Amino acid sequence: MQESIDMAELLGDLDFDPAALKAKYLEERDKRLRDDGNEQYVEVTAEFSHYVDDPYVEPGFSRAPLHDEVEVAIIGGGFGGLLMAARLREAGFDDIRMIEKAGDFGGTWYWNRYPGAMCDVESYCYLPLLEELDYMPKHKYSFAPEILQHSKRIAHHYNLYENACLQTAITQLSWDVKDNRWIIETDRNDRMRARYVAMANGPLSRPKLPGIQGINDYKGHTFHTSRWDYNYTGGNSFGNLSGLKDKRVGIIGTGATAVQCIPHLGEWAKQLYVFQRTPSSIDERNNHETDQAWAKSLEPGWQQKRMDNFNVLVSGGDQPEDLVADGWTDIMRNLTGIAAKLASRKLGRRLTKGERAELMELADYKKMNAVRARAQKIVNDEKTAELLQPWYRQFCKRPCFHDEYLDTYNRGNVTLVDTNGRGVERLTETGVVANGEHFEVDCLIFATGFEVGTSYTRRSGYDIIGRGGQTLSEHWQEGLRTFQGLTSHGFPNCFFLGFTQTAVTVNVPHALNEQAKHVAHILQAARDRGTPTVEPTAQAEEDYVQEIAKSANVGARFYAECTPGYYNSEGKRGNRSGFFSDMHSAGAIKFFKLLKDWRDEGSLEGLDLS
Ligand code: NDP
Repeated sequence: MQESIDMAELLGDLDFDPAALKAKYLEERDKRLRDDGNEQYVEVTAEFSHYVDDPYVEPGFSRAPLHDEVEVAIIGGGFGGLLMAARLREAGFDDIRMIEKAGDFGGTWYWNRYPGAMCDVESYCYLPLLEELDYMPKHKYSFAPEILQHSKRIAHHYNLYENACLQTAITQLSWDVKDNRWIIETDRNDRMRARYVAMANGPLSRPKLPGIQGINDYKGHTFHTSRWDYNYTGGNSFGNLSGLKDKRVGIIGTGATAVQCIPHLGEWAKQLYVFQRTPSSIDERNNHETDQAWAKSLEPGWQQKRMDNFNVLVSGGDQPEDLVADGWTDIMRNLTGIAAKLASRKLGRRLTKGERAELMELADYKKMNAVRARAQKIVNDEKTAELLQPWYRQFCKRPCFHDEYLDTYNRGNVTLVDTNGRGVERLTETGVVANGEHFEVDCLIFATGFEVGTSYTRRSGYDIIGRGGQTLSEHWQEGLRTFQGLTSHGFPNCFFLGFTQTAVTVNVPHALNEQAKHVAHILQAARDRGTPTVEPTAQAEEDYVQEIAKSANVGARFYAECTPGYYNSEGKRGNRSGFFSDMHSAGAIKFFKLLKDWRDEGSLEGLDLS
């Protein structure tokens, strides 16, 4: 018989009662479970459509409709679209058109300009194409304006402004079978043609609002964080919100976005009410300026090496050195396969499945105890400190890292209105009702996130009509159907970048880059072979869908015990529309290798190039 493990020896002090913590987690989850799941949110259409107007452009833009043709049309000017264009340029494609709804490139960094916006993932890994553009970020974690600037730099470098259609939203794509071309219709009355289309719409691009009673009754000033109204608040992404000096401000939501803007609101508003349904887990950030001597010492190829090193560590693998050495690699080292591997080494044998699960769970409690203790240490008021403590496992929600967020609650003008998991009750003409109490506010900010789990076509704002007249929404009615996560049968010369049946990593641009390289390879091969169309066979698509189905239950138990959120389809069991549903079970490292091996093998198996 195998000797039982002394977990304390492996994990250090275990001065807590795991059963009591588990019970507390489940109790907190149960408080928040609700039947309507994703339906609790309202779509930003009709009377809510002004919430998605672009506040960063001058009104009145117009141009003549286009009826021309390009070789490749790329939809979306964020990192996905930019990387796609860069890899295509490198592969010798000159005739590219970028089509983007916003007034400039940048994607999520175009829209999210709220005060304090910055990236949690290390800039040296996150900002794409640093070596290609000979650019070094100013800080370990970049602030949003620098990331937006870098997006524009990429667009200039690869000559993507030329021929671009900005402030242009797609209304429909349809395949012209006679000509083997896509017809692209837009809200500018364009009817352009393209041989290939690549969609890089972004996974968190469509803001959502809570469907609370009276949402239309509120007469004060209001906006969503992804359309920050600096005309009202004053200041910019770095703060200085002088327009709020005499204002009572309310903010609904305490996710990753709110955590970054609340310190600025607290600093400038006369009074700030933070309406909280579930607290985030807030760990240290430790940002610092880039060490120039270190930057100069880097050898060519350093960025890919650093991205790979980070990717392995955050995917649960081992590396001789932790180049990034931050909150992400720390959590992953302690809470994933690496921890189990280290424990095995210490024990001199493999852990059983049960032992491994127990080890992970205990390590998670330990980590979250430290997160909770941090809140208690920083926040002076005992009750507020208690309410800011998250009671769930680390990866139930997006981990946050911030050095000023918790301290903001020590300000006399900042009030945490915790709703005990229920959310705000309703809005009135002058404010917000929560816990039966009315809070008068001059300005109400929705930090309520983005649509996840609604259909791809609803989130992108257009449908795609493939060969034979079938729409993408029909083809994907019963769930996503792709080959390699990138292309679908019946939709020739059409590619999807992002989160559709693929594998992702904490550093999302890394995954987008792998996808872009893969699509560029396919288009180059089609060009070399002189074939007008490239499309997965029905069989290859079906085989791939079956392969993805194997991972349908991966993480299901873990997420079932989580407090609701967009990671677990708002707590709806068995729902396949969570953020990580339909991902490839191989994980990012193996999946990227799988794609590379397929490219190296050369036969383009699964694709019909006829
Ligand atoms: P989230 O979906 O993470 O947060 C939405 C918030 O709104 C949650 O706190 C939610 O509470 C709350 N909420 C929703 N409805 C109600 C209601 N009726 N009453 C009260 N509260 C409500 O959106 P974010 O914009 O914060 O973040 C989205 C994602 O963007 C992040 O998860 C992250 O991936 C990314 N991001 C990344 C950053 C980075 O550094 N790289 C920075 C900012 C965002 P509940 O939790 O109970 O549902």
